[in-house]
Amino acid sequence: MKSATRVLVTGAGGFIGHHLVKRLKAEGYWVRGVDIKEPEFEPSLADEFELLDLRYWHNTLQATNHMSQVYNLAADMGGIGYITAKLADIARNNILINAHMLEACRLNGIKRYLFSSSACVYAGYKQNTADVIPLREEDAHPADPEAGYGWEKLFTEQLCKYYFHDFGMETRIVRFHNVYGPLGTYDGNKEKAPAAISRKVSLASDGDTIEVWGDGLQTRSFMYIDDCVEGLLRLMASSYREPLNLGTEEMVSVDQLVDMVCEIAGKKLMRLHDRSKPQGVRGRNSDNSRLRTVLGWEPKTPLRHGLEITYRWIEDELRKAGRVEEASLAYASD
Ligand code: NAD
Repeated sequence: MKSATRVLVTGAGGFIGHHLVKRLKAEGYWVRGVDIKEPEFEPSLADEFELLDLRYWHNTLQATNHMSQVYNLAADMGGIGYITAKLADIARNNILINAHMLEACRLNGIKRYLFSSSACVYAGYKQNTADVIPLREEDAHPADPEAGYGWEKLFTEQLCKYYFHDFGMETRIVRFHNVYGPLGTYDGNKEKAPAAISRKVSLASDGDTIEVWGDGLQTRSFMYIDDCVEGLLRLMASSYREPLNLGTEEMVSVDQLVDMVCEIAGKKLMRLHDRSKPQGVRGRNSDNSRLRTVLGWEPKTPLRHGLEITYRWIEDELRKAGRVEEASLAYASD
């Protein structure tokens, strides 16, 4: 019975964790959410929500007590500007969270543990061109991941495998490719490209200029949040213990992403490409062959459709905050 299954979601105050809690509750699970902060935009639906800093051992023991399944989504992370600026902080904070979480889960007899890894584990030398060959799971080795954040994710993937090898602990490892959707951070310095571009377009008036990081030709694929959550539940229920891509194969350039958002907004805007800003790898796309084989499923939401929902939500938030009226000032203050 699902209601008897006690599920812990760490990072439940964050973007993916908050959506996952909603879905688990809708499915009838008993859910404990843990984070260092409450969700930003609406209250959590978790049966219990605890504010705990999971870098500390005693907190991971408390969080995992009397739980059956764990989705470990807590991480110090953000968009490319954030993760390239903070190498030591991010690597240290996340290795503390993840090493302590695994051991606490073992001691508390957790039945299934899911670790949220990232496409940032993939080798940089395989992502040097915009028309990149889609990344298969084996392309993470020989290792050349993103500095700091990516190295930590890659090492923790190994740690999950060691916990199965040494203790028989059931671990699942998901490699997300750029997740976007409503209720995600769109301002500050932790937002990702779809949210940042939606904010800039929303704040701009027809004919304005917005700043775009890099030359705009760098490529990525983006996964809508509902697909992400669906994939998480499916992977947790599966018997697959190796790392698995979770993303779409619909690759676009950043300029194409801007085109789509402008079209949704009904605005014609100029772009100023700032090549001094970090742009990450030149090209990245997911190869979903193994995902299709293992789960018999893959994310389906077209980017245009998911972006429309996301853009409208961000525009609405900015309107509620009284910022859309400041349209003509948007470029100057960005
Ligand atoms: P998010 O930043 O919205 O959520 C992460 C949450 O972890 C935050 O709410 C944060 O407060 C919490 N956290 C940070 N340090 C903590 C600590 N010491 N103790 C407890 N909680 C702490 O990010 P997200 O997009 O929801 O990402 C969830 C997971 O997915 C992360 O592991 C992230 O690395 C991974 N991921 C996300 C993406 C993406 O595109 N969103 C891509 C690849 C991987």
